[in-house]
Amino acid sequence: MLTKAYAAASAGAQLEPIEIERRELRPHDVLIDIKYAGVCHSDIHQAREEWGKAIFPMVPGHEITGVVSAVGPAVTKFSVGDQAGVGVFVDTCRTCDHCTQGFEQYCTGHASSTYNGTEADKVTPTQGGYSRAIVVDENYALHIPENLGLDIAAPLLCAGITVYSPLREWKAGKGKSVGVIGLGGLGHMAVKIAHAMGADVTLISHSANKKEDALRLGAQHFLLSSDKDQMKAAKDSLDIIINTVSVNLDLNHYLSLLKLDGTLVLVGLPIEPLSLRTFSLTGSRRRLAGSQVGSIAETQEMLDFCAEHGFGADIEVIDAAEINTAWERVVNSDVKYRFVIDASTL
Ligand code: NAP
Ligand code: ZN
Ligand code: ZN
Repeated sequence: MLTKAYAAASAGAQLEPIEIERRELRPHDVLIDIKYAGVCHSDIHQAREEWGKAIFPMVPGHEITGVVSAVGPAVTKFSVGDQAGVGVFVDTCRTCDHCTQGFEQYCTGHASSTYNGTEADKVTPTQGGYSRAIVVDENYALHIPENLGLDIAAPLLCAGITVYSPLREWKAGKGKSVGVIGLGGLGHMAVKIAHAMGADVTLISHSANKKEDALRLGAQHFLLSSDKDQMKAAKDSLDIIINTVSVNLDLNHYLSLLKLDGTLVLVGLPIEPLSLRTFSLTGSRRRLAGSQVGSIAETQEMLDFCAEHGFGADIEVIDAAEINTAWERVVNSDVKYRFVIDASTL
């Protein structure tokens, strides 16, 4: 089946209209009519080969929501008409230790990323959500709760789960102080989710004009990272820091904000090596960690959590023709706070 999409033909190329093939439904497949696709900074990193060699043509997009329009004969988890979503991966090996323990986001076998990867056959390229339809195994699709709009739900499939998972793992909640570095797509979801979990939230930004939004989204405190006095006054005050920034920062400054036994979790993915002073960790038995999206079960838990608390992402809906401009705005930290493509315009 052919479907309309937007693709980059080569590394760094502008995205342009294309038609791509979606596979015939296998027994456990569902066909999703895509309504919305979020724009993640990872789309840009990959289409510009900032993480290394990539597969072209590339249809990016791994924050996908839509409505199920057909199901394979063995499907039990979805019915035609259900709201459904797809995140960062569409298949994993299902047999490695991590897959069998329910941590398939850390699959050590062959995992199929939603785009810029290959299917289980290790040959057929996968293509993402900047398209009108997608076929996916029911075990890798999510239920979008009925009270969440498909537009504000789309960014939850990557931005939402990427911050929810470490906030859960490092036990954000009442009595915990959480710092979030960067108010972009991931950062604004981290503020909303940590606040909903009951934590005291500090947003740390390099943009002075984001203070008002940070407080509106649920942060109690705002730190301008370039203000030395503010940063000094906040030393030893945070239990957890989630770093969502897409470029390298001097982590030593941020580690000093952690209390004894505090943890700084890296989720932003610049490729250059980090420079770290050992003393930044040893002085207060601090920890530096990393985290990558979340499992399917945890993603469903996060969607239900957001629905229960009545929020999705803060979005700007764009037409397909605006994608290239939107990408430039993301790179310039000029997005409030996630672009979402209206798939009907593709
Ligand atoms: P985004 O919307 O562009 O947000 C990044 C934020 O970082 C910006 O809003 C800005 O916040 C800050 N920033 C940008 N440039 C900066 C600079 N030069 N100096 C200091 N701060 C700067 O990006 P996103 O979609 O949230 O993604 C963020 C990163 O997470 C990307 O690298 C992406 O690939 C990665 N990611 C990782 C995972 C994972 O599983 N680990 C999943 C999804 C995305 P302020 O203006 O507030 O400073
Ligand atoms: Zn993403
Ligand atoms: Zn696996």
